[in-house]
Amino acid sequence: MAPSRFPIRNEMSRIVEAPGKTWFWELAAAVIDAERCIQCGACVAVCPSDSIGVGDNDLPVLVKMCTGCSLCWDFCPRGGLRYEAGWPAPQPAEPVVAVLDDPDDPDDPDAAILPPDEGRIFGGRGEGLGPVRRSYTARVATPLPHVQDGGVVSALLVAALDAGLIDGAIVARPSVTEPWKGVPFVARNAAEVLECGGSFYNQTMGLAQLDLKGYDLGSEPRLAVIGTACEIQGLRAMQDNPWWHGSHRVDVVVLAIALLCTKSFDYQGLMLRELRDKRGLDLAEVERVDVIHGKLVVEDRSGTELVREPIKNFHGAALKGCDECADFLGRGADISVGSVGSPDGWSSVLVRTGTGARVFGLAQPSLEVTDLARPEALEKLDAYDRKVALDSLRRDFDPDGPLFWSYQDHVDAYEGTDRAPVYRSS
Ligand SMILES: Cc1cc2nc3c(=O)[nH]c(=O)nc-3n(C[C@H](O)[C@H](O)[C@H](O)COP(=O)(O)OP(=O)(O)OC[C@H]3O[C@@H](n4cnc5c(N)ncnc54)[C@H](O)[C@@H]3O)c2cc1C
Ligand code: SF4
Ligand code: SF4
Repeated sequence: MAPSRFPIRNEMSRIVEAPGKTWFWELAAAVIDAERCIQCGACVAVCPSDSIGVGDNDLPVLVKMCTGCSLCWDFCPRGGLRYEAGWPAPQPAEPVVAVLDDPDDPDDPDAAILPPDEGRIFGGRGEGLGPVRRSYTARVATPLPHVQDGGVVSALLVAALDAGLIDGAIVARPSVTEPWKGVPFVARNAAEVLECGGSFYNQTMGLAQLDLKGYDLGSEPRLAVIGTACEIQGLRAMQDNPWWHGSHRVDVVVLAIALLCTKSFDYQGLMLRELRDKRGLDLAEVERVDVIHGKLVVEDRSGTELVREPIKNFHGAALKGCDECADFLGRGADISVGSVGSPDGWSSVLVRTGTGARVFGLAQPSLEVTDLARPEALEKLDAYDRKVALDSLRRDFDPDGPLFWSYQDHVDAYEGTDRAPVYRSS
């Protein structure tokens, strides 16, 4: 076989006969300028020359010369990454006790708290709820401020930090200058985790935070990533295809928690145009923003409801790229957490991997836990979400297809549609 002209791309993406270099400007045309970017940050994290940064508009921007290595295209969930092909393959049910240090040792602290594996719901790639070892409805036993639903995500992170399994977690915290905007942050202790509880209905380019130079975490930290499914897609694809990387440390992520997600929003569109300007809300007075039973609900500090409207009224502020996402359930995560399927004030929890089971077991003493109340609600919303995605995607949807597809294939599939590449003259 002839040596490749594109060694990094071959090494990472296993694209042997590269169809040609794909440049950042092509990613920009097909994804960013076509308004399909879902602000996951994968392109920033994957760029081996650190040529991509985050612009003032919270979108990827070229900060130095593009070498044409093509990886930003390959690992973009709205570009060359066929995200559904990265969902975990069907796997045999292996007992959760396999993750214990010593499953036969009654003094092993994990042994006392890990639930036995039911070995169920190991569906095919993209079937059912995806790989799920155990599913729960849970909430923290002692109420926490700020949390969105049952506070389970915060409890998982605190437990993992306390046990020394992680040194930090990429979460979202409130911006100090823009009210109700979530910005990415690496929380390194329980107090920081608890300050960052709750949901921000904007994307944070979270994977771009994996350049950890600004944080004092040592050379080999272990991190958790909390994010929407699209962020987990990019993360997993990079982890499964190790490459010579730049400053971003995808390799140090040991725990991935997905927030169940049907759509995210543009901060300016939702919080400023729709809520502040059109509905006259003082965002500084807002205490809670939530999506409950298909309605956007906003409350002030006294608990008074300021807004309760069908979420479809805010569709114009939703990210266009979210329409093409069929991963409501965050299938690639260690644990997926959301509100659908559980009563108000509780979280639905899908424990997917051995790592997830271990972390859930560590958090369990701080939680009230029952079986997942309504798994059928998750299945129903997942089916709806997939229907929207299939109506919106302009390429084929194939969980068993190749993980990557080329820029030219994208152009051929999207040209002439409402999602076609937009070429800006500069
Ligand atoms: C954009 C978005 C859409 C969602 N859509 C759905 C949905 O359709 N159905 C559903 O059941 N659940 C949805 N959720 C999840 C839900 O809102 C809660 O986040 C989830 O139930 C966990 O609640 P908790 O109380 O256990 O978490 P908490 O203990 O409150 O912790 C939440 C954690 O998530 C982090 N976080 C918050 N916002 C973001 C963000 N934008 N990006 C990265 N990290 C963030 C916080 O910093 C915190 O660490 C969505 C969340 C988001 C952010
Ligand atoms: S969707 Fe993600 S990878 Fe693609 S351009 Fe946007 S931030 Fe980059
Ligand atoms: S709907 Fe999908 S693409 Fe959009 S933010 Fe949620 S997980 Fe990401």
